[in-house]
Amino acid sequence: MIIDFHAHVFPPQIKKNRNKYIDSDPCFAILYSKKDAKLTTTDELIASMDKAGVDISVVLNIGWTTHELCVETNDYILESIARYPERLIGFCSVQPQSYEAALDEIERCAKGGIRGVGEIRPDMQLFDLWDEEVMEPFISTVRKHKLMLLSHASEPVGHIYPGKGAITPEVLYPFITSYPDLTIILAHWGGGLPFYALMPEVRQAMKNVFFDTAASPLLYSPQIYEQVVQLVGAERILFGSDYPLLEQGQVLKDITSLNLSEEAKNLILAGNAQRLLGITGKAV
Ligand SMILES: [Zn+2]
Repeated sequence: MIIDFHAHVFPPQIKKNRNKYIDSDPCFAILYSKKDAKLTTTDELIASMDKAGVDISVVLNIGWTTHELCVETNDYILESIARYPERLIGFCSVQPQSYEAALDEIERCAKGGIRGVGEIRPDMQLFDLWDEEVMEPFISTVRKHKLMLLSHASEPVGHIYPGKGAITPEVLYPFITSYPDLTIILAHWGGGLPFYALMPEVRQAMKNVFFDTAASPLLYSPQIYEQVVQLVGAERILFGSDYPLLEQGQVLKDITSLNLSEEAKNLILAGNAQRLLGITGKAV
């Protein structure tokens, strides 16, 4: 079994009217203003999963800035997981600053079978991860429904790319320590946060934190896998492609070509996701 923990889908109306959404949302505009930034529907994702041999994908939303755009796109994710219950797991998006409306939306999505909230983008959704007034009610609703939280993360150094943003390790770490019992998935290898697991207190604080490999070939050399396995253990790494930014196979080939143990590969490709999502079946 192969589980891709980081894929994005968009409803056909967004694909068709891309410019309208570029004009109405800064996060979407940053990610999808370029004509060659691919937007894909659920059916296209399923076809691509079949081609790459991916059994299950976690479909994530993006950090829309308004409540209405979160709801519109959550609707599509809810519809998608209902259509493909064996192939897709859904995460929803909310604007935590819409307070009650955001909490109600989490409730609605949880009832529809959503398993997490993400990919959150505090830098573009303009909320602070340490703003207790916004975060406390948001996180307690996430907890109440036993959901996970997946956040974008970015490297404080290195090349600039559309959507890199500013959710760097020093922004993420205080948030992690504030909510130690929450299952947090940090995209794109947590922007380098695994390195600090060499500090014992940081290692201890990150015991419920997982790191996905989304877009890895665009960011790091393949050695990152062996390095992060040593730093935090293979049981904390989740294969994620960032489809359609990359095809699943482009990330998979890094993993399969490396000299990682079979056990580590199996954990990264499926075992860890199975444990988090409660999915049974033979890994790879
Ligand atoms: Zn991201």
